Amino acid sequence: MVEKWFAGAVVADGSGEDPWRGDVCVSDGVITAIGRAPSDAEVIDLHGMVLTPGLIDAHVHLGLSSPIRAQFGFQLSIAEIAADIFANAGRALDAGFTTVRDTGGLDGGVVEVIAKGKVRGPRVISCGPVQCQTGGHGYYGAAWEPTEMWETHHTPGLASLSLMSGNADELRRNVRESFRRGATFVKLCVTGGVVGGHDRLDDTQFTVDEIAVAVEEAAARGTYVTVHAHNNAGIRNAVRAGVRCVEHGTDIDEPTARLMREHDVALVPTFAVVDQLMDVESMDLDPATRDRIAGVRTRMAAALGVSRRAGLRIGLGSDLIGPDQRRRGEELRLRAELESPMQALVSATSVNADILGIGETVGTIRAGMHADMVAWQRDPLQDARVFADPDMAALVVRAGRIEKGETS
Ligand SMILES: [Zn+2]
Repeated sequence: MVEKWFAGAVVADGSGEDPWRGDVCVSDGVITAIGRAPSDAEVIDLHGMVLTPGLIDAHVHLGLSSPIRAQFGFQLSIAEIAADIFANAGRALDAGFTTVRDTGGLDGGVVEVIAKGKVRGPRVISCGPVQCQTGGHGYYGAAWEPTEMWETHHTPGLASLSLMSGNADELRRNVRESFRRGATFVKLCVTGGVVGGHDRLDDTQFTVDEIAVAVEEAAARGTYVTVHAHNNAGIRNAVRAGVRCVEHGTDIDEPTARLMREHDVALVPTFAVVDQLMDVESMDLDPATRDRIAGVRTRMAAALGVSRRAGLRIGLGSDLIGPDQRRRGEELRLRAELESPMQALVSATSVNADILGIGETVGTIRAGMHADMVAWQRDPLQDARVFADPDMAALVVRAGRIEKGETS
């Protein structure tokens, strides 16, 4: 068993404790000790750097790595869609992200080739297609298209954006179908969204009883449901039905935050995508998107404050879509502006790991954990722009393997 010591860095271990100095010993992909590297040890010298756990993005869409309208309008070959997905998977590692939770659109085939090491990328936990109600958020077909045509837009093995359900029985079938294709949790859209032209942000989607069907199927599989939700009515429906996590949470008010707290429901706010969506031309989006996005950022920032005061577990997700998913760490920079760099780091590491159900093995630097780590050239806790700059992530280690940086 080869031991390697990552030595000399200041360590911000993801727990939120003050950074400390110590060398980290890694063997067989796992952190086996923290202390002083022995003089005869194999050492990777990290003097002058700050070592953090590998970052986790709890809300990604690797399956949406091409220009959106071109991808769903049959203008791209399968080869090109695959090339775009694989490129973005590699970029996540380069930006310091060693784990991502794909919240809709990625087929299990991609998860498998990355896990096999045939394609460079982070650890991927995926829900497969999003579950949406007929014509709800997650449907990007034209209004004239027969509902049955929607799944012809999917690219089996690569990307399948959503499965549409008209009632509880169809939803049960579609959740089971997603598990069959490799999903390990369930994502349901319970309100309208920003992207897509068939609904409004303040719509609610799926009834409490329907959401409860997805929760029941997830529980039978030993996993959980998270929901895409912007408005309070939709979030309250979902919490009452037993979901474990809310994505976006744009309009969360105090009573809703209290209800979430009572049911220990986590929140994953998503700021980076809001900036990204303002640029509708380069994103290849419907110009109406700009009207829908107006005001979302301010409201989401207010909801973050309300949720923090209510004591919710608050993770972090970029929700980046489209071809250029290079600056995933932008989400930490934005969160650092609203809170602090340390809070952003904790959300992106130990809290996200907990939300993903993998907090026992990733998200902190301590003995017994998987060796997922990033060495930053400058201190991101002093200047959170460092998190957003892939060039600052000098060394990226996933499960003990150096994925970026010096390999000696
Ligand atoms: Zn999303």
